[in-house]
Formats: sequence, structure tokens, C-alpha cells
Amino acid sequence: MSSPGDSGKTAQAEAWLRYFEDLGLAPFYLDRASLELPAVPVAASSVALEAASVAGKAPRAQDALPIIQPIAAAAPSLFESVERVEGDTLENIREFIGECTRCGLHKARTKIVFGAGNPRAELVFVGEGPGHDEDVQGLPFVGRSGKLLTQMIDAMGLSRDDVYIANVIKCRPPENRPPEKEEMATCSPFLVRQLAVIKPKVIVCLGNVAAQALIGTNKSISHFRGQWFDYRGSKMMATYHPAYLLRNPGAKGDVWNDLKKVMAELGLKPIKPKPRSV
Ligand code: SF4
Repeated sequence: MSSPGDSGKTAQAEAWLRYFEDLGLAPFYLDRASLELPAVPVAASSVALEAASVAGKAPRAQDALPIIQPIAAAAPSLFESVERVEGDTLENIREFIGECTRCGLHKARTKIVFGAGNPRAELVFVGEGPGHDEDVQGLPFVGRSGKLLTQMIDAMGLSRDDVYIANVIKCRPPENRPPEKEEMATCSPFLVRQLAVIKPKVIVCLGNVAAQALIGTNKSISHFRGQWFDYRGSKMMATYHPAYLLRNPGAKGDVWNDLKKVMAELGLKPIKPKPRSV
């Protein structure tokens, strides 16, 4: 007889299986039928159903890793003019920011969201700016989008402690509106310094705002998603923001394709989730 705890674990395992299938990792589950998973109620599987609507487009795990595209020359980015600070550290930068009032976004913020993760990470994710949950907790990507980003990181065989996560702006814009150019220009030097200290091999821009700011373009992300750019010696790529994926789960396959390129660059292999033992 199963306990309530067992059913919770089963539901969690099913959620993971559906997520990996959404990412196109279904071939890892060829033996799933033999696991006799209970049927998923239709109402609870809308994400999987939407993803299934693009079935055939999703990447297959056994496909060869995509060829890394040559690094394209980027237009001058918002960050080009920011100078490196000799002997800089993340602690110095945080101290320098202080209780910042350099732009109007300080008025409505609860907490500055500086960034979090491994200060020597080879992989840095850069988002747009804090949302409600991040503003309250002072940590990046901790809401629904953050949960999805964590799953993406897990699927790469990494944990959040292995990577570093930061945003272009450090205070939440009112009503989650996109940051204005002046706000980004004021705040982004902090991110530039963070990236200069961490010196990651790869930077992944999440969403239009981060991508446009770092790559220096007005084009929509769909024009350059998945392409490699050079950012001060790091390889940089843009992919869709997790919040976009929550609204458009069919795009998860595209993001997984992008992340596979990142993994190839970092010498990582997709994890094979453990078979269920129950
Ligand atoms: S968004 Fe950046 S520049 Fe503006 S107040 Fe916050 S930390 Fe300062």
C-alpha cells in the first residue's frame, strides 16, 4: 500500500519525466512503458500536450551534437565602454553598489538582486532583471522561471552551485516592465565587472533584453538565438528566457538545442535520469 509520501514522490518523478520529454530527452525513457506509470490526467499534462504539438521538431538525445557556429562579429554592446577594474572581486562590486540609488528603480525595490552562484563558474546565465520573488528574496531566478532554469541546469548535468546567475539590472522594475535603456546603462557596468571577475568560458543570455544589451543589437532574439558571439574572450549565446518557455512550452526544444551547444563547448554530456526503483 502506498503512503501519501510515495504518491508525492511519484508525482514529482512524473513531473520530471514530462519535463525531460518536453526537452526532447524522451529517448532516455524508451523503457518508460515498462515502468507502468499511472496515467496523467489530461488537465495536469497541458504542458506535455503543448510540447507534443511540435513533436518531431524536438531534438533527440542520440542526435550528434550540433556543430559550433563560428563566432560572429557583434555590434558594439551597451558594455563596450566599461573599463576593467584591476584586482576587482565580487565582494568589492557588491560593496560598491551599496544601497544604490543611481537610477529610479531603487524607489520601488525591496532588495537588490546582485547575483548568486559559483564565483569561478565556467558558465554564467544572464537574465533581464528581478521579478517579484527575486525582489523579495534578493536572489536571482527563484520564482517559477527560476524553477524552470534550475531544471534546465540540472538537465545539463550541473547544479545552480556550479554556475553563476545574474541580471542586467539589479532592482525590479515596477509591474515587471522591461528596463529602460537609461536604467540598463546605469546598472549594467556592475554586471560587466561581475563577468570580468568570473571570466566564464560561456555566457548564456536569457531573453531579448539581456541578449540585446550584451550583444548590442535591436534585432529580436529569434534572429540570433543559438549563435555564438564573442564577449571579451568568453563565448556568448542567447536563448529564450524561462518565462517565455512557461508561456510557450513548445520552444523548449529550441532551448535544449542551444544548451546542447553550450554543453559541447564545456565538455558536458546530458544526464541520463536514473530509472525509477519503485
Ligand atoms: S537598478 Fe542598478 S543602478 Fe538602478 S538603483 Fe538598482 S542597483 Fe542601482
